Amino acid sequence: MSDTPSLFDEEENARQRIEALRDEINRHTYLYYVKDAPEISDGAFDSLVHELRELEAAWPRFYDANSPTQRVGGAVGDQFAPVVHEARMYSLDDAMNLEELDAWMDRTQEALGEFPEMVCELKIDGSGIALTYADGALAQAATRGDGTTGEDVTVNIRTIRDVPLRLRPEGREGLARTGSFEVRGEVYMAKASFERLNQAAQGAGKQPFANPRNAAAGSLRQKDASITAHRELSTYIYAIADEGAVQADNQYDFLRWLGQCGFHVNPDVQLCGSRGEVRAFCEKALQRRDSLPYEIDGVVVKVNSFALQRRLGYTSRAPRWAMAYKFPPEEKTTELLDITVQVGRTGVLTPVAELEPVSVAGSTVSRATLHNEDEVHRKDVRIGDTVIVRKAGDVIPEVLGPVLPLRPEGAAVWHMPRECPSCGSPVVREEGEVAFRCISIDCPAQAQERLVHWASRGALDIDGMGEEVVRSLIAAGRLCDVADYYSLDEQELALLDMGRVNKDGDPIRLGATVAKKLAAQIDQSRHASFGRVLFGLGIRHVGKTMAEAIAAAYPTMEQLEAAGEEELAQVEGVGPKIAHGLYEFFRTPQNIEVIRRLRKFGVTMAVDIEDVEELLPQTLAGLTFVLTGTLAQSGMTRDEAAEALKARGAKVSGSVSKKTSFVVAGEAAGSKYDKAVALGVPVLDEAQLLETIRTGEVPA
Ligand code: NAD
Repeated sequence: MSDTPSLFDEEENARQRIEALRDEINRHTYLYYVKDAPEISDGAFDSLVHELRELEAAWPRFYDANSPTQRVGGAVGDQFAPVVHEARMYSLDDAMNLEELDAWMDRTQEALGEFPEMVCELKIDGSGIALTYADGALAQAATRGDGTTGEDVTVNIRTIRDVPLRLRPEGREGLARTGSFEVRGEVYMAKASFERLNQAAQGAGKQPFANPRNAAAGSLRQKDASITAHRELSTYIYAIADEGAVQADNQYDFLRWLGQCGFHVNPDVQLCGSRGEVRAFCEKALQRRDSLPYEIDGVVVKVNSFALQRRLGYTSRAPRWAMAYKFPPEEKTTELLDITVQVGRTGVLTPVAELEPVSVAGSTVSRATLHNEDEVHRKDVRIGDTVIVRKAGDVIPEVLGPVLPLRPEGAAVWHMPRECPSCGSPVVREEGEVAFRCISIDCPAQAQERLVHWASRGALDIDGMGEEVVRSLIAAGRLCDVADYYSLDEQELALLDMGRVNKDGDPIRLGATVAKKLAAQIDQSRHASFGRVLFGLGIRHVGKTMAEAIAAAYPTMEQLEAAGEEELAQVEGVGPKIAHGLYEFFRTPQNIEVIRRLRKFGVTMAVDIEDVEELLPQTLAGLTFVLTGTLAQSGMTRDEAAEALKARGAKVSGSVSKKTSFVVAGEAAGSKYDKAVALGVPVLDEAQLLETIRTGEVPA
C-alpha cells in the first residue's frame, strides 16, 4: 500500500474544501452586507475568496453559477423596498499588488494598441449607492445590493448634507439629454465620526461597529431615518449608470461636471499618461492613507476615455476598463502546518506556528510565536487549521485564531511536549508561571541560544555572528561557552564548514572575507561596556536595563562576584528573586570558570574607570598598594586588580617603600613580599584583596 494520495482523494479533498469555503464565504457575506457586522477583516475575507478562486480554476468541474466568486459583492435585505438599477452596478477586479496592476495595464494596452490615458482615484472604503435625479431633483436613492437590485434608502440619503437635493444650474448645462439619470458613489463615515459613534455606543452598552465602512452601511440602512440624520455620513460621487446622459466624454471631465452639479467629489484625482505615474499615485496613496480623515482601501485606476471604456466592455462581474489596486492587507488566512517548540536561552519552551508562507502587509510570513501553551489553548489553534495571520506595519506577525468551519476533521488539541525537544530532559512548569521550562544545564538548545545572545546587538554586538555561524561553530566543536569566542582565530573561521554543500558537492565554508570581519568584530567586542557584558552572560531575569543598574551598583566583576544575596536585593529593581538568581549564578562553578576565562581574554570586567570615579566612594584615597605574585583564585591580572583599587581612589605603585600602605601577595610572590616583611608593611592575601575591592575597606 502506498501513502501517496490517489487522484480520487485529491479530487474529493478539493471538492470538500471548495464547499466549505463557499459556505464560509456566504456566511461572512451575509454578516457583512446584511447585518453590517463582519466577524473577520476584509483582508482575511479576501484571502478566503482568493483560495476559492484558485481551487475553482484548478478544478473547473466544480463550477457553480451560484458560487460567491461569480457574484457581485452584496446582498439585498428585506427591510427596504427593492430598486432595480438603471444599469447593473458592477464590482471591480482587484490587483493585490503593483505587479498585478502592471499586468492589467499591459493587457489594456494590448487590447487598445497603445497605452491609454488613465485616471487614478482613491478607493473610498464606504458603501456603494446609486442616486437618481429627475428634472434636476433627487428622486430616488438605493444601495448597491446585489448589483442588479438595491434597497430603497431615499429618505435616509436625504438626511446626508452633502447630497444635493437639486442640481446647480451650471451642472444642468452639462447634460446631454433630458429625463432622469443615475449617478453612483460611496457613502462613508469619516474616521472622527466613527470614533464618536463607537464611543457613544460603548457608553450605552451597545455593540460597537467593526469599522467605518460597516458603520456607514449600517447607518444608511436604518428604518428610522432620523437615526441616519445623526450619524454624520458623507458621500463621494464618481460614476454614472449611462455616460450618454452627459456631454463629458471622459472620466476626468465627468468628475469636474459632477462638481459643477454640486456633488461632493474627491479632490485626489490624477490623470496619468504612463504606468510609472499610475504606480507613483498608488504608492503615494498608501503612504498618505493614515493621514486622510476617511478610510481608503486602495486606488481605482480607470481608462479615462468613455469611448475606450466601451471598447473594452465588461466581464461577468466587473468592467475591463478599471482595476482596484488594493493596499497590502494586514490580515490574511493561511494553513497552520505545524506547531514546533523552541528552547530559549533560559530554557523556556515557546510554541511556534509554522505557517504555509503567506504575504501579509507586504512581507512573507512563515512563522509566528504562539507564546505559551495557555495561549495556544485560548486561541484554540490546531495543526491543520486555516488561521488568520495579522501583521500591521513593522509589527511582529501574529496568529489571531482559526477559521473554525474550515477545521479538518480530527484536528487535535495541541499540548506542550513533556520532554525538552532538544535534550530530552523532563520539562517543568514552575508554580505561578505560564512557561514550561527545560531545567537541564546541559541542554544544547539553551547553550546555543546563550551563545547567540552573547553576540546579539544589545549584548556584545558581534556583527555577523548569527545563528547559522554559531550552529556551525558548535558543530565543529569550537564553541561551548561564551569565552570560546575569544579563542577563535581568523584562519579557522575562514575554513569553518557551514554544514551545506555547493553544487559540486563541496562543503561551503565561511570564507576569508567574512572571517576577517568577524574576527575584528570579536576582538572589538572585548571592549564593550560592563553593563553589556553582564547582560550578555544571560543571567536569568537580568535584562538590559537591569544589567546597567547592577553595573552601576557593582562597577567591577569582583565586587559583584563577592556580593551577598541580601545586599544584591537592595539594588534598585532587583528584589529577592533576581538577587537569588544572581547570587547562584556566581556560585556555579561553570559560570565562575567562564568569567575567569573571559577575564583572561581581556573582556571588560569593570565599568569604565572614568565613570567609576564618579560612581564609587573614594574610600581608599591616600593609600598606596603594591601588587606581587599571581592572583590565582580570581584569575585577575595584576593590572585589573590595580584598576579596581584605583577606582576606589587608591594609588598603586611598582615598588615597596616605607610609604607603601599594603603589599598584596598572590601565589609565588617574590622579593617585594620579602621587602614588605622587612619594612613591616602589612601584607594582604588574595581573599583580603578581593574583599577590599568589594567593600572599599581594608580588612582588619
Ligand atoms: P470592492 O469594495 O473591493 O470594490 C468595488 C467597490 O469599490 C465599488 O463597488 C465601489 O462601491 C467602491 N469604490 C470606492 N471608491 C471607488 C471609486 N473611486 N471608483 C469606483 N469604485 C469605487 O468590491 P466589492 O465586491 O464591492 O466588495 C467586496 C469588499 O467587501 C471586499 O473588500 C471584501 O473584503 C469586503 N467584504 C468583507 C467581508 C468580511 O466578512 N469582512 C465580507 C464580504 C465582503
